[in-house]
Parts: sequence; structure tokens; C-alpha cells
Amino acid sequence: MPRPDVMDKLVSLAKRRGFVFQSSEIYGGLGSVWDYGPLGVELKRNLQERWWHAMVRSRDDIEGLDSAILMHPRVWEASGHVAGFMDPLVDCKACKGRFRADKLADAQCLRKPSKHPGDHAECQLTEPRLFNLMFKTHIGPVEDSASVIYLRPETAQGSYVNFLNVQQASRQKVPFGIAQIGKAFRNEITPGNFIFRTREFEQMEMQFFVEPGTDAEWFERWKAARMEWHRALGLADDRLHFHQHGPTELAHYARAAFDIEFDFGGSLGFQELEGIHNRGDYDLGRHQEFSGKRLEYVDQAANRRYVPTVIETACGPNRTLLALLVNAYREEAVPGEEEGRTVLRLHPALAPIKAGVFPLTKKDGQPEMAERIAADLRRTFPVFYDDAGAIGRRYRRQDEAGTPFGITVDGDSAKHDDATIRFRDDLKQIRVGTTRLAETIAAFLRSDRATADSTLAAGA
Ligand code: ATP
Repeated sequence: MPRPDVMDKLVSLAKRRGFVFQSSEIYGGLGSVWDYGPLGVELKRNLQERWWHAMVRSRDDIEGLDSAILMHPRVWEASGHVAGFMDPLVDCKACKGRFRADKLADAQCLRKPSKHPGDHAECQLTEPRLFNLMFKTHIGPVEDSASVIYLRPETAQGSYVNFLNVQQASRQKVPFGIAQIGKAFRNEITPGNFIFRTREFEQMEMQFFVEPGTDAEWFERWKAARMEWHRALGLADDRLHFHQHGPTELAHYARAAFDIEFDFGGSLGFQELEGIHNRGDYDLGRHQEFSGKRLEYVDQAANRRYVPTVIETACGPNRTLLALLVNAYREEAVPGEEEGRTVLRLHPALAPIKAGVFPLTKKDGQPEMAERIAADLRRTFPVFYDDAGAIGRRYRRQDEAGTPFGITVDGDSAKHDDATIRFRDDLKQIRVGTTRLAETIAAFLRSDRATADSTLAAGA
């Protein structure tokens, strides 16, 4: 049985609460391009910072890089993208639909009742023709064939062409890696499913350079490490699995490839979040050939030189963010209340807002005390102050934004110099002195669940 499809509900929540908006919406939108609103940009940054910390800052064998989106056009000849970054495209002459020939089973015909393209008697599909996914533009004032350049379709090539720059500047020894987070552009034929497949997106990619012969072992290590990273985001174990590329899916140069897939529910089901690839020496070898520059590592201790083998981990933050929202979305009954709630059970460390701060009423100095608490906490993490409407409503608004803590100042707070903390996931409440609020929340953020027990266990 497929898991329920929550995509339509998420698209509407994402817009209502400011996670994701359609690009250029007031002009009718631009196909499969999206903007990240106030909550979305925080969630995406938290995700990217977690990746950067795991892949770069907490290790001594991976260096960071931020290479340019525009690159020399020869890069894309060497990488194989000019000749081979193609999808087979078919048109339907009857309904004017346009589909990827290799994904007809995932596509819906424009006719009703909806079927796969080719399944209606009236369908008239053309022969497939190849379509290059790279966006072209021109560099400089003259728009001729000599000035054509591309918006990069992946960040990886920036790491390959800088292999020696990074290695020499940081005095790294093989094995070591180069990591990047940045924009990529693909003129996808059939984009869709909200932010799952878009024409402008981001990548978090790491290229790990190893001595030939040690690649199979490093491949296994990276496979395990990357799966563990996704699990630690709070993505449910039974929604994650590996998909091994069979001989027909494998790029001609690749020695092995596994995707980490997440179950998005509904008809989308399991889909790729990240690819782990053993790319052999294809990339450095090709750049060596096309640039005429040696891209070899000099192993001084062993007195030899070689082109390293590359293990790549290629993850999409936009897709992972969608997976986080799908994974976190719940509609729940609340004990003792008639109205249920919609809640995003996001990992506390990823939640865009860490705490909502509320005065129970607008009198007896409660708003002033709550504002003081909010200002104090805001020095450490994002906080939302709210004094508008019934307290239940205010809690619900923060539940829907995934905020793990609700801090309420009530009639007793001034007397005891304390406030109540309400926990998003188990709805328990504890009273904490105002001077200990920041450290209690910090302890909570180190734990993995938004419950009272996990916070106390984390040493608050
Ligand atoms: P797919 O088979 O879904 O087109 P891919 O195998 O071409 O993806 P890679 O080139 O390995 O993808 O890119 C690495 C990651 O970048 C993917 O796992 C995905 O998370 C992300 N990604 C790729 N294309 C898109 C896109 N059009 N929109 C959003 N994210 C993308």
C-alpha cells in the first residue's frame, strides 16, 4: 500500500506559512521555479549548514569550495555534457503534451481520464528526439556561436577543475575531498512535483579523491556515512533505502552507483535524494586531455604520481527539504480539544523558528515580560513573539511552522520569575526560571526529539 499523498496539502501549507512560493507568481508564475520564503530559507540554511558541518568543518580531510556558475565552455565538452547530457523527448500531436520518453510510466497524459501518454486510443506520440538539458547564454556583448556559455548543470565540475588548486593550497594528501554547495540549472522536460524536480535548484556535492585500488572500500564507507546522515535528519528509517544502478542506468564511465531514495508517498513513492558514485578517473582524465594540463597527484612518500579515482556524493537540498516536510507532516487530534492540529514534526535543529514566546493575556505586564524573554533568546536563535488571539490558536500557528518550543508567560510568571515551556511533540509543559530558558532550549536542540523527556535527558 502506498503511503498517503500529502503533496497538495504541503503546497498549500508551504505558501500559507511562507516556506515556498511560486516564482514570479503575480505574473502567473514561471514553470518549475520556486522561491523560498521566510521559513523556507531558514529550513534550507539549517539543512545546508548541517551538511557543511558534517562534510567540511568537522573533518580534516575535506576542503570547502565555492566555484562560479559560469565556466569555460570547454569544461562541458570535457565532462561529456555537450554531447551527452540529453533526455529523449516525445511530443503528443493529439494533446500537445511533451514527455520524457524514458519516464512515460511516471507521466500523466493531458486527456481525461488521466492515463499514461500513449495509453489513450487518440494519443499520437512522435519518435523520441534528444534534447540537451543545459541552459545556454552568451558571455560579452556579441551573441554569436563563439560567445555561447552554459549555466552549470552540476557543481562537481568546479571541484574537478580546481583539484590541484585546492590540493596544493591546503596541502592535502590523497585521500581527501572537495565539497561545494551551490546552484545548478537543468532545462528539465518534465519538471514537477512541487520542488522535487525544478529547472533551478541547488546541490551539495562532495568529490573524494582516492588512490586507485582503494575506491571500492571508500565507496562503501561513503554509502554508509551518507545514509546515516539522512537518518539523523529524522527521516523515518522505513522511508529510506538504497537503489543500486543496474547496467542500463549506470553512466558509461561509472564503476558503481547507488541512490539514497526516500518514500514521498502517493504515486511519487520512492525517489532519489542523493547519488553516491564511483566515477573512476573519468573526470580528471578528461580534463587532463581537454586542457592539456596534468591533473596528477604526486605521492612524494611513495615517489610516484597518478590520477586519483573519484567517489562522489551528490545530494539535492531542495529535494531533501521536501522530504523533510513530507516526513514531518501530521494531522493529529489534541487530547481535551475539539479542534485537531496540523503539525510539522521537524528535527529541532532544523526547525526554522526555535521558540514561540507568548504572554497568556495582554495585561499585568505579561506582554512586557514575554517581549524581554523573546529579545533575550533572539540573541541565540530565531524566536517568534505572538500576542494576537487565543493561546490555543497561537500554539497551533507555531505547530504548523514546526516550532519545537512554546514559551508562555502567565499570571504566576512575574512572582516566580519563570515561564512555561510547552513541547511540540508530546504537548507536555514544564516551568523553568527565566535565567535557565536559553540553556534549556540549547539542550533541547542537541537532542533529537521535541519532547520534555528528551530535553531533560540532554542535560538541561
Ligand atoms: P534525476 O535522475 O532525478 O534527474 P540525477 O540522477 O540526474 O537526478 P544527479 O545529477 O546525481 O541527479 O544530481 C544529484 C542530486 O541533485 C539529485 O540526487 C537530486 O537530489 C538533485 N537534483 C538533480 N536534478 C534536480 C532537479 N531538476 N531539481 C531538484 N533537484 C535535483
